[in-house]
Order: sequence, then structure tokens, then C-alpha cells
Amino acid sequence: MKIVYLIMDGLGDRPCECFGGKTPLEAAVTPCLDELARNGMTGLMHLLAPGVPVGTDVGHICLFGYDPAVIYTGRGPIEAVGVGCDMKPGELAFRGNFATVNEKGEVIDKRAGRIRHRTAELAEALCMDLGDGVTVRVKEATEHRAAIIFSGPGLSTALTNAYPSSLRPLPQEFPWVKAKEPAAEAFAEKVNTFMRRAQEVMAAHPVNVERIANGEKPANALLLRGPGFMPEVPSFESRYPGLKVGLVVAQETVLALGKMMGMTIACAPGMTGGMETDFNAKARETLRLLKDHDLVFVHVKGPDLAGHDELPEAKKRIIENVDAMMASIVNGFGEPLIVAAGADHSTPCAFGEHSGDPVPVLLSGPGLRRDGTTEYSESGALLGGIGHISGKDFLNVVLNAAYRVPKQGS
Ligand SMILES: [Zn+2]
Repeated sequence: MKIVYLIMDGLGDRPCECFGGKTPLEAAVTPCLDELARNGMTGLMHLLAPGVPVGTDVGHICLFGYDPAVIYTGRGPIEAVGVGCDMKPGELAFRGNFATVNEKGEVIDKRAGRIRHRTAELAEALCMDLGDGVTVRVKEATEHRAAIIFSGPGLSTALTNAYPSSLRPLPQEFPWVKAKEPAAEAFAEKVNTFMRRAQEVMAAHPVNVERIANGEKPANALLLRGPGFMPEVPSFESRYPGLKVGLVVAQETVLALGKMMGMTIACAPGMTGGMETDFNAKARETLRLLKDHDLVFVHVKGPDLAGHDELPEAKKRIIENVDAMMASIVNGFGEPLIVAAGADHSTPCAFGEHSGDPVPVLLSGPGLRRDGTTEYSESGALLGGIGHISGKDFLNVVLNAAYRVPKQGS
């Protein structure tokens, strides 16, 4: 049997006053997910460890069954892969911002007036050879963002960020990187050389000549943060022999992780990583991938964003839309299907940030055990037969439902 695993980003919540003490998931009308719960089991998933809040990146690494201590070396490589860079294991990436410095070399705008156009031309002009076998390539990302990738010998992540602390007022001195340990000093020097040369190249670049003529702030510096090495990531297929895995996603971080893990990515026009997305397109893409994949993850970002914006009503509405999407997938597939549901972390609307509260999970399908659960919710999952489980363990439980976990021993 094929498996669909629904991921509602930031789904978990706490009782909300506006819903008379129910969570957005409990208040939402979700006939499809509730029926799945009645035909299966629920439980509570602690992504990394009980009570420990995680980001979307670490939460998904756990949910996909990987060890963040091995896979997660910093945000840089995840962002770089997310914007389409082809990174090799051992290369080092930073997340970058195009920024504006004044004639004294002080940072006056961390986002270069929120530059949106022609950053590809700037990025291309910044690819360079730094000597000693070290090269840099730069790739533009959304708006003022960029990915900066270093290759060659002597790379290190033991560096301070070249990024102003948001607590201090601007202008402020340019934040050159510093080595955190003696072994990183030579590489810190290389990174600073790159940033200095990048400022020279950008000062005279036609894109900035035009921006200044238009009264806009020039993008005449790069700020760097979040350095990380591209890890060696064993593919899903190598960990679960023969398992073909797909991922329906628009959000860049999750998309990048899927790519790194060797999943087939499906992202159709209209699908976004925002509050509004085309749920019909997500259902269609899921059904398309199910034809030749054994496991398809469907990611929806909306619940997390509503949690961050402290909008319980919006979170409830998005959950209801997801329920309708799941109904079209289950009914549209036309054959017996195993359905799992979970989340990468909780984002309580009353808090506006990620919390360490566990998230409800669901596993349902023909011939699977049932635990008497009547709905998919935080309080329902408290009594569920799956009990309390880690992200990594839940993945095995899901795959075992389709007999896809390799046997240990003989
Ligand atoms: Zn979030």
C-alpha cells in the first residue's frame, strides 16, 4: 500500500480563549481527518526531545527520520540548496544579504533598500577565485537575500557572523568575521578578503550606478551569517531499500531538505509557502506522485504562519482547507491508502513562536490497528494508542504500516 504523510507546519497549539478553550485544530471542522483517526491511531510526537522547541529545519530533519547532529551544520547549505545551488559535500555556504554601506564603510541598511531587481547580475559579478585553491560562488535568492558558497581547502564554520545585531541602531561598523578558534584564522582572513573585494566590485557595478541615479540605496556590500558545511546525506532510498519518496512543497527550507535527501520534489504554479496556497494543486501533485512513489509527503506552511501572526481564526480556517485537500487525495486515489499526519513543531497562537509542546500524529489505513480515537486533535491524541513518540520513531511506525522497514537480525 502507498502512503501519504501530511505535514501541517507549526500545527500544534494550546487552548485558545476565542474557541472556548479549544485549540485551532480542535475548533476546526475536519471530517476527513477525524474519520481517518476513527479508522486508525493517534499519538503525540516530540520531534527532537520532550519540551525542546525546534525550527522548521530541525523539526523536518527529525520528522524525516534523520539525526540533526549529523545533517544540520548551519542554515547556509539548506538555503543554498533551496535556491537551486548544486552543492557538493564538504563545501561551505553562508546565507547572505545585499546591504548598503556609507562612505565610511558603516552599514546603513541591512537589506539595501529591500532590493528586488537585478540581484542576479550582482551575484554573477561576485563569483571569484581567492587563491590557494579557494573559490566563491554567489547565487541570488528572494529579494535582498543571497547564498554564498566557498569551495577548497581550509574551510571552517568556527567564525562569527558578519551581520549586525538588530538590537543596535544603524549606522554601525562593518561586521567583519572573526575566527572563534586559532585554526579558523586563515579562513576568516579569506572571508574578509572576499567581502572587501565584493564591496569594490559592487561599488562600480552598473546596477548600483542605476540605483543611485534613481535615488535608491546601492547594494554595495554583502553581509554573511549561518555558515554550514554541506553534509553527506544518505538518501531515503538507501536507508529504506527501494522506497521511492516524493515531496509536495513550496516552502524553500523544506524543499531544500527534501532535495538533499533525494526525494522527488513537486511544486506547481499556485502553490506557495505562504498563508494562501492552491490546495487543489497540492492535491493534484500528490495524486500524480503517488502513481510511481511509495511515500509522498505533503507540506502545508500556513498553520505555522498563522501561529506566528497570532491569528487562531486563520489557523483554524487553513486547517479546514487542508482537511478538504486530504479528502480529495483520499477519494481521488481510488485505492486503499495509508495516511499519516504530523507536524514539525507547535506554534501556539498565544505565543507567536515555536514551542516545545508535542504535536498530534495520526496513522490510518485499511487493516491497521485502531485505538478508539474519535478525532485528530491535541487532546484526542493524549489518549491515542501511538502514545508519546519521537519524530524519527514515528517515521518507522508509518513505514512499518506498509511493511517497508528493513528487519533487524535474521
Ligand atoms: Zn515557524
